[in-house]
Amino acid sequence: MPPDADGNRRRRVVIVGGGFGGLAAAHKLRHADVDVTLVDRTNHHLFQPLLYQLAAGGISTTECAEPIRFALRKSRHTKVVMAEVTDVDAERRQVVLDRGERLDYDSLIVACGAQTSYFGHDEWRDVSYGLKTLAEAEALRSRIYAAFEEAERAKDPAAREEWLTLVVVGGGATGVEVSGVLGIIAAHRDKRTFSGIDPRNTRVILLDAGDRVVPAFSEKLSGKVAKYLGELGVSVREGARATDIDEHGVTVEIDGKTERIPCRTVIWAAGVRAAGLTERLAKAAGANTDRAGRLEVNPDLTLPGHPEISAIGDATSLKGPGDRPLPGLATVAIQQAHHVTKAIRAGQPGATTPFKYFDKGALAVVGRGKAVCEIRGRELSGRIAFFTYLGVHLYYLGGGLGRRLELLTDWVTARIGHLENQVIEGELETVERVPEAAEPAR
Ligand SMILES: Cc1cc2nc3c(=O)[nH]c(=O)nc-3n(C[C@H](O)[C@H](O)[C@H](O)COP(=O)(O)OP(=O)(O)OC[C@H]3O[C@@H](n4cnc5c(N)ncnc54)[C@H](O)[C@@H]3O)c2cc1C
Repeated sequence: MPPDADGNRRRRVVIVGGGFGGLAAAHKLRHADVDVTLVDRTNHHLFQPLLYQLAAGGISTTECAEPIRFALRKSRHTKVVMAEVTDVDAERRQVVLDRGERLDYDSLIVACGAQTSYFGHDEWRDVSYGLKTLAEAEALRSRIYAAFEEAERAKDPAAREEWLTLVVVGGGATGVEVSGVLGIIAAHRDKRTFSGIDPRNTRVILLDAGDRVVPAFSEKLSGKVAKYLGELGVSVREGARATDIDEHGVTVEIDGKTERIPCRTVIWAAGVRAAGLTERLAKAAGANTDRAGRLEVNPDLTLPGHPEISAIGDATSLKGPGDRPLPGLATVAIQQAHHVTKAIRAGQPGATTPFKYFDKGALAVVGRGKAVCEIRGRELSGRIAFFTYLGVHLYYLGGGLGRRLELLTDWVTARIGHLENQVIEGELETVERVPEAAEPAR
């Protein structure tokens, strides 16, 4: 808004990222006396906890993502820009966009999240599937169902087996959730629709370098998760470190020995690092990042020496209760957004009091109807944990109550692995093409 006759103007708040943290911040500033600009390189807010369902074909794209413009349609003083923020000019208080445009700010909230990380093996990106963005989940869905088609066409039993082996690397919550859903797909695909293969012969292997899956949970709950996965036919291999990945398989180090698992589909769920912008912002503002590229923020979530720049969510590193780093969870990002915006609404450039995380617990779902959760020291597993999981997601899903209930109903009743969900976008990519036969002479 331009300045009035007295030169007064509303304060300008720029938010980078329309994920859990950024969107929560924009919502909280809806009635504040500020002009907000939210910049995201995508046009949608992504509900990442449901990505594995999208990859499995259990839900559709629009059930997992909502246009940011739609989510903020009632926020009169909020402008949405679809662009990548490439830099920050901390001295002039401007963010720089991908086409060189500059946006002035009085307060900046950086909520740019994290991205898939291959721990220095960027070449694995081309031969594996991540599960962090909408595009990655859609690509994975196509690959899962294409693998069955490829297996059906394979003439050689070894090649068929390669196609029917799905390997997940990383036994955190994401790896566990995707393995569980792959187990269901394998068990429930309709054998009668294939003539050359029995989809039930699909092998799903979960590799984890640590000594137990979901280490964020207690040993007891980790054991339950491994048991539930086993019941779904998933082979859980703990202490197994992937040392190489290529188009035809994974090399694994296990108990000091090297093993090769031939397979054509590898899902990488082993690591994330902060979005690239954090490094540039750290340089511009004289801040530090940790080994995972996360911005080291003050306890009040501002950057050292910059009370007007706050950073929240997965892009940041901050210690919480017991001096342990806060987990990369939507609940952390949302609570941090509330902390920062409360101060901005009160007329400050950013918060000045320390952020205190209210631990709402952690959840991981395994297949259908089973989950584990740990809420304030209480451990739940099985169906009761699953229904707790549903309740939590009902609360955090965007949109009105009607949309949330509709989505959850779709989700709970989703027929994963059934024919109507098996849409492959495009053609099979990996079939070796036979050169076109020359036109017969007339
Ligand atoms: C598969 C999966 C399952 C999960 N399940 C759960 C769960 O059950 N419960 C839970 O609490 N958490 C869960 N999480 C974690 C949760 O999704 C994250 O902690 C949360 O999204 C972090 O919010 P954020 O706002 O920091 O970042 P994000 O939500 O990742 O948003 C970051 C946004 O910034 C944008 N962006 C990045 N860089 C730029 C740039 N340079 N310019 C413009 N825009 C940019 C991105 O496009 C994105 O929209 C899960 C994550 C995954 C991947």
